Amino acid sequence: MSGARLEIRLDAISHNTTTMVRRLGERGISVTAVTKATSGSPAVAATFLAAGAGALAESRLPNVRRLRRGGIRAPVTLLRTPMLSEVDGIVEHCDISCNTEPEVLAALSLAAVAADRVHGVVLMVELGDLREGIMPNDLCAVAAGVCDLPGLSLRGIGANLACSSGVVPDEANMAELSALAGRVEHTGGLELEIVSGGNSANVSWALGPARVGRINDLRLGEALLLGCDPLDRTPIPGLRTDGATVVAEVIESGLKPTTPWGTRGANAFGEPPAAVSAAGPVQTIVALGRQDTDPGDLAPPEGIEIVASSSDHLVLRGAHPVPVGSEMSFSAGYSAVLRAMTSPTVTKVYLGAEPGAAPTPARSAR
Ligand SMILES: *Cc1c(COP(=O)(O)O)cnc(C)c1O
Repeated sequence: MSGARLEIRLDAISHNTTTMVRRLGERGISVTAVTKATSGSPAVAATFLAAGAGALAESRLPNVRRLRRGGIRAPVTLLRTPMLSEVDGIVEHCDISCNTEPEVLAALSLAAVAADRVHGVVLMVELGDLREGIMPNDLCAVAAGVCDLPGLSLRGIGANLACSSGVVPDEANMAELSALAGRVEHTGGLELEIVSGGNSANVSWALGPARVGRINDLRLGEALLLGCDPLDRTPIPGLRTDGATVVAEVIESGLKPTTPWGTRGANAFGEPPAAVSAAGPVQTIVALGRQDTDPGDLAPPEGIEIVASSSDHLVLRGAHPVPVGSEMSFSAGYSAVLRAMTSPTVTKVYLGAEPGAAPTPARSAR
């Protein structure tokens, strides 16, 4: 194997999933495990399911197709509002989709009827983060519209915070979601099966002292993969944070001045010159760049500092030379994982699989 690789530790993901399923279960909340950061990896999905997650969620239809091709039969929810151009595939491969647009709901209804299926709908409500969501005052009318459409079944409502504007899930906005669930049920004379409170940013709210109210589901990706709270990137107590590592080869290492010389302009990415590093006399270059991952979201080994990155080079400083040809490992954050997973230049390696848990080969080119 040559080139950079992303190592995914399935045993860490399994531990995190089991732990979160148990802790949230004690509060009446089920876990829908999100595969989107791994581009719909069947190995990761199988690990989530074997560890107790009841359902999966994905943001993109091609990734859902990959899950299905990989032998995953569990219910899958599409997180991103369906594109009108994709409704047929969504009805075919997804059990539920999250929705906000009446026009899309009408198209899903036609597609479901044509395929002789019933497609589940979760209506997303805007609670202040200003990404997807129906304004709260319009929710009951849209819900009534879903109930009138053949081929659709209103399964629940949901909200998503902390993604676009960093709005923190708290007692007030979660109580509002609970109240809205009650209002939809009362107005429509129906019962909602799913009240999905949010993503990994909801974990500290859900495990804290606040009342859970009607919230009975969270959609978790980062917490299960990386054991981190996305609100402040801190580890969630009891979870493993070693789920993803980027590994690449050293191609140059030796003593170099710390100060550039010559007239300085912007770098290759139009960024102003970085501050001069005082991290060490030795400069090391690793064959890893912005085409492979997000260098700003990598944690280097102890005693090493990342000082610059370009398309193909990661520039490090440290006290000691590193042998050319040796490998260096970096702990990867969410953005680093996301880009490494979608980069064709990075080999994906799945480690720590429980025997029989994953239906796919341990190594995959995607
Ligand atoms: C990405 C996403 C999630 C999962 O987010 P994490 O922070 O990885 O837990 C949940 N819900 C929606 C709507 C998403 O887009």
